[in-house]
Amino acid sequence: MTPVLRIVDAVKEYAGGVRALDGVSLTLHAGEAVAIVGPSGSGKSTLLNLLGTLDRPSSGAVVLDGHDISALSDRRLSALRGRRIGFVFQQFHLADGLTALENVATGLLYAGTPRKWRAAMAAEALTRVGLAHRVKHRPHELSGGERQRVAIARAVVNRPALVLADEPTGALDTATGRAVLDLLLDLNSEGTTLAVITHDRDVAARLPRQVEIRDGRIRAEVAM
Ligand code: ADP
Repeated sequence: MTPVLRIVDAVKEYAGGVRALDGVSLTLHAGEAVAIVGPSGSGKSTLLNLLGTLDRPSSGAVVLDGHDISALSDRRLSALRGRRIGFVFQQFHLADGLTALENVATGLLYAGTPRKWRAAMAAEALTRVGLAHRVKHRPHELSGGERQRVAIARAVVNRPALVLADEPTGALDTATGRAVLDLLLDLNSEGTTLAVITHDRDVAARLPRQVEIRDGRIRAEVAM
């Protein structure tokens, strides 16, 4: 299997000497679905920031699509990130003043997609997540589950290789959260590599591979 993303022996230290990650190696292969699970303070957000190439390690390597990101300028890295990675957050991070369609189209801003194609691609992504009938709604006119679907459409509108979801069901009730995870797993079965960061073991148990992080180290790995 081809690695989409590799982290090799990554250490992340914050000011004050806090070592949030202490030598983590992790490979995400094309097409797989991985849960990264661990309690609060274990280093999940720090790991997510490295996986998403939003931050660089203090030492060790992050390799996205075969590119060692330490060799890339911030500008080239953000272009690569924009093409290859889609993000989904617990609190959706949608713009209130924009319609669902416009919110999804913002996912194409950094990808260099010509303006004339953006609306059609956004509409197609909203159809993929079952929201073809909500394109003109603004976030406050949508339920929590619908908002997360809009955020997922935005994450996948550019057909990224990898979707990184940070507690994607954390703000939703159990049934809605289950449906959102179903949707992410459907996208995975269509070929998108998926990594879900969660403290919720029931969510993690629904993914075929689970990586457990504790005190900045990978403690256990379960593949089912
Ligand atoms: P989690 O997401 O699992 O709750 P984090 O990655 O946020 O864990 O944090 C791991 C450790 O790093 C914690 O001890 C936290 O206090 C510390 N930490 C996180 N971010 C910073 C920062 N910007 N500056 C200093 N310490 C940080």
